[in-house]
Amino acid sequence: MKSSDLLIIGAGPGGYETAVHGAARGLSVTLIEKGELGGTCLNRGCIPTKALCRSAEVALTVAEASEFGIVNTDNTPQVDFEAVMARKDKVVSELREGVATLLSGVSIIRGEGRFISPCEVEAGGETYTAGRIIIATGSAPSALGIPGSELAMTSDEILSLDKLPHSLAIIGGGVIGLEFASVMSAFGVDVTVLEYCKEILPPFDAEVAKRLRMSLKKRGISIITDALVTSIERNEPGLTVSYESKGKEKQTTVESVLMAVGRRPVIPKGLVEAGAILDRGFLKVDDSMRLQWNEGTAPCSSEVYAIGDVNGKCMLAHAATAQGETVLGEDRNLDIIPSAVFTVPECAMVGLTENQCLALGLNIKTGRSTFRANGKAVAMGETDGMVKIISDTDSGLLLGCHICGPHAADLVAEAASVMTAGLPASSIRKAIHAHPTLSEALIAAFS
Ligand code: NAD
Repeated sequence: MKSSDLLIIGAGPGGYETAVHGAARGLSVTLIEKGELGGTCLNRGCIPTKALCRSAEVALTVAEASEFGIVNTDNTPQVDFEAVMARKDKVVSELREGVATLLSGVSIIRGEGRFISPCEVEAGGETYTAGRIIIATGSAPSALGIPGSELAMTSDEILSLDKLPHSLAIIGGGVIGLEFASVMSAFGVDVTVLEYCKEILPPFDAEVAKRLRMSLKKRGISIITDALVTSIERNEPGLTVSYESKGKEKQTTVESVLMAVGRRPVIPKGLVEAGAILDRGFLKVDDSMRLQWNEGTAPCSSEVYAIGDVNGKCMLAHAATAQGETVLGEDRNLDIIPSAVFTVPECAMVGLTENQCLALGLNIKTGRSTFRANGKAVAMGETDGMVKIISDTDSGLLLGCHICGPHAADLVAEAASVMTAGLPASSIRKAIHAHPTLSEALIAAFS
């Protein structure tokens, strides 16, 4: 049996980043991976979709070129989808090579890791153990148990499309559904989003989600909320999606369907049999990411942890990385994790929504600003959107920041830093921001 200080299963942003940090601290690290280095984020998630988002932005810019005084174009971008996908693949492979370089001090085992006891993992015919074992096996797209479910593409499959459909129905108006809706619509696809809840992006602040819905609708995306999808049927040459909305049976017929209704954890083989406890299908962990075992599980000399999507605490790449850093003893505030949606315009949030604050009975003060009143946004021609700041009236602390607008994902980092440092919300107002910048929209939310 081979032994190391740290054994990690899964080379996504949770696993590979932790492996790199561990090796940098002088630990002997073994990393088991059955697929490509980089996991979902790099190969089938954050990165390829961001490459597509950038192509979509360029298409939208070309379509509006004359508004910026750039003439001699007919403002009709021709999307060479093969070239768009080739650029996406190039971005991914470049970054994958970077990950391989970062992992040069780590022993990488290519194969599927399978638990044969609580502290022994078999891969490629060899058995491994370690002082600390970290499970970072991530998640996979989940599908609705409805008739015809198999006719829909998953978010993995849509990334290898060879031609653009004329029309696309997207089941689920969450993060993945809306990112693809934004991209595909910019490429000229007729997009319909079917969302079960009364508003898109259920975990986001309702005011910001509504703002995004209005912006996407203005760009020609059809968004139907309060829609429970019940079946998909082949209806040559297309697919008919049936749904119930406000007590009525409705249908839409499209060329392709994307299913984006959440993700399910990928549990390593043998782990449940070895005694690991599942909670709603995810691996149950405590606040320090230590795996929870059934009573009577054979004692184990290894400390076993689960980080990232597989524990279901927060299904975001940077949350997985931060959880891994916590396991290595770094001080991270895992309660303050910003999240972003890379639509046009972008949306981002950190902390509590207004409804969450009200449900907790907190005394809050809200402040708002619009990008229409921000000099840089007006100059950029990207005035759609708003900033909403929520602070605690009693303590003055920042409780939440919600942004819909240009570069929202970058802007929210300032609020996340203030919250992590435990500074009063007013410290954003006090700090002098360069002019003209989008960041001034945050200070404007205080006036
Ligand atoms: P999600 O949970 O964000 O959204 C799924 C949506 O599907 C929900 O709004 C839900 O109400 C809806 N839905 C469920 N059943 C339905 C039905 N029968 N009919 C219509 N709508 C239905 O899931 P996702 O968008 O698939 O994303 C999965 C995970 O990946 C999330 O945790 C997300 O945070 C993460 N992710 C994050 C990013 C990012 O941060 N930019 C990008 C991609 C994925």
